[in-house]
Amino acid sequence: MKKNIVIVGGGTGGLSVMRNLHRKRKDVQLTIVEPSEKHYYQPLWTLVGAGILPFEKSVRNFKDYIPSDVRWVKDKVAQFQPESNQLISEGGETFSYDYLVVAAGIQLDWNKVEGLAENLGKNGVCSNYSKDHVNYTWEVMNHIRGGRALFTFPNTPIKCAGAPQKVMYLAEETFRNNKIRERVEVKFISAGTSIFGIAKYRAFLEKLVLKRNINTLFQHNLIKIDGVKKIATFKNVETGAELEEAFDMLHVTPPMSAPEFIKKSPLANDAGWVDVDRFTTRHNRFSNIFSIGDASSLPNSKTGAAIRKQGPVLVSHLLADIDQKKSNQKYDGYASCPLVTSRSTCVLAEFDYDGNPAETFPFNQAKERYSMYLLKKIFIPFMYWNLMMRGYF
Ligand code: FAD
Repeated sequence: MKKNIVIVGGGTGGLSVMRNLHRKRKDVQLTIVEPSEKHYYQPLWTLVGAGILPFEKSVRNFKDYIPSDVRWVKDKVAQFQPESNQLISEGGETFSYDYLVVAAGIQLDWNKVEGLAENLGKNGVCSNYSKDHVNYTWEVMNHIRGGRALFTFPNTPIKCAGAPQKVMYLAEETFRNNKIRERVEVKFISAGTSIFGIAKYRAFLEKLVLKRNINTLFQHNLIKIDGVKKIATFKNVETGAELEEAFDMLHVTPPMSAPEFIKKSPLANDAGWVDVDRFTTRHNRFSNIFSIGDASSLPNSKTGAAIRKQGPVLVSHLLADIDQKKSNQKYDGYASCPLVTSRSTCVLAEFDYDGNPAETFPFNQAKERYSMYLLKKIFIPFMYWNLMMRGYF
């Protein structure tokens, strides 16, 4: 009998794993549960928010990526019942599975900052993390004529930890192009302790912010926005003291956490993520369940690039189970972050679980290069749509 595999989420992780399984095996029945008609390639939003590419370049119809013999359930999963190998959708349907893959992404907690949800998309408050407001980032960036441009980083795990500063470099370049740079203060205000977690790239980026005359303030978490007065309030994560900062442009990276339906499920670890083994992507308690991507507890930097390395490991362990064999494949924590620093330069950061650089090219990648910008703007999106989303990792 065909094994029944259910995949939750049709984003980068869910769709690529589904297509890879479909390509490799005809003896499995695949079901994918995804509520959205559209699939978004989110990494392009950095370029959309800087007016470099139109939003439409980041969107495709989900149905165009679903083979005819795969069942697409256009609904949300509401509950997991791993003891009975079942899940229940919001529409009330119950699904049974032999194997389950959870790839439901990360939740954006807009309501955890007072005044953020109400002001997003107006009063100079923008975010590349919101598909509905990413065009507004460009509007604000290109129309500001002076004052203060602030870029925040929250005190939670986030997807693409480089994105909060990529938008800042592109804004700073825009202010120079618009001949208003000397009238705008550019400031990065982060709840973290440094500009980037990985030592090799941090050293480069610390010099870059100095060179570009960008101010930095660490250990300060955004807690409140007054859109009318254009005041953002930050809390010192050490002392609890509050600090008010005036702004004309405020790019917010919202707090994020595991999706609510996962947090309250038996699949979650204490922090709310799907509790999987960091090397095999297999659930630590339910051996027929796997998870990759932003929803998983894998302690890597949450990126689509990481999924490109997690996917083959997950598939090899799942298929080995079906064949009653063993897989020795291990995920080493690889993640990558193309740090766009202007409309013609990019630093390609690549690293593993231990923070060691895991670079692809035979040159020092902690350097701004035009070739890496072309990779980010043209080559990686091409690979994403034509290879990864068609089952080739
Ligand atoms: P997603 O791709 O977010 O997909 C999750 C899917 O689950 C969605 O389709 C959603 O509809 C679905 N879902 C949610 N709830 C349910 C439910 N209850 N039931 C069923 N389905 C559900 N990564 C890079 O590698 N490089 C970059 O340069 C980069 N830049 C970025 C810039 C920005 C501005 C942003 C926002 C992200 C960036 N990323 C980048 C991160 C990357 O997009 C994510 O890490 C990646 O998409 C995660 O894939 P995922 O499958 O875990 O989640």
